[in-house]
Amino acid sequence: MADLPVPKLPPDYHTHTALCKHAKGRPLDYARAAVHNGLSEIACTDHCPTDDGFGAAHRMELGQFEQYLADVQEARQLGGQVTVRLGIEADFYPGCETFLSSLLERHDFDIVLGSVHFLDYWSKDVATKSLAHSADPDALWVRYFSLLSDLAATGLYDVVAHLDLPKRFGNGIDRKRFRELALPALDAIARSGMAVEVNTSGALHAPKEFYPAPDLLRWMADRGIGLVFGSDAHTPDRVGDGFVAAIRLAREAGFTHYQRFVQRQRTAVPF
Ligand code: ZN
Ligand code: FE
Ligand code: FE
Ligand code: ZN
Repeated sequence: MADLPVPKLPPDYHTHTALCKHAKGRPLDYARAAVHNGLSEIACTDHCPTDDGFGAAHRMELGQFEQYLADVQEARQLGGQVTVRLGIEADFYPGCETFLSSLLERHDFDIVLGSVHFLDYWSKDVATKSLAHSADPDALWVRYFSLLSDLAATGLYDVVAHLDLPKRFGNGIDRKRFRELALPALDAIARSGMAVEVNTSGALHAPKEFYPAPDLLRWMADRGIGLVFGSDAHTPDRVGDGFVAAIRLAREAGFTHYQRFVQRQRTAVPF
């Protein structure tokens, strides 16, 4: 069979910057890398600041948010032939809604990623339980998917990031049980009108596969859930990383379109 032409790459809607304390590069570096890597659109989606100390080690300070906006603006002006969207990756945790919704209202975001990186959060004085705790993987997935359903119900986010993130740390359970736990969360996501990303950073992590797994992608396609692509780049060179393989997987799962986000409104684009 002749090689198919390399498809035009979809936007990379998941990138980070040095402001989050564990990534390298500024938005302008990501914009330039996007041009170099053959992409015509990216979103900067650095980890959202919080007002209550939640996950402070992994995100910009609240006082750095204006700097983030200025950096994205600079990337738009100097980045060359690439469209740079203003996004944010915001953790969902019980109690996050008031601050987050006011931040989202006050700024002109194109896309908001919703993530569950931690399983339980009560207050900044109480230790946060990370996804890596896996003594009881079944209980972990029960809690994780229930948080995703809650995330979807807030209506605050546009896209669920790294849908099956707990697999990063193992946490294997049998397929039938996994399906039983995942489907209610997918139904909640479908009802909310949110999209889900194919996040290619999973290929670099222990599971050696993208988020979400092929089974989940098929169940998403069955429900008509929209799709976007994200590298979750924490260094500029990773922008668009793995997208050709990700498109192939998405096609195999039954997807024909990705979603483009502009000012939090989505449009389906064929790929
Ligand atoms: Zn990060
Ligand atoms: Fe994340
Ligand atoms: Fe991320
Ligand atoms: Zn992420």
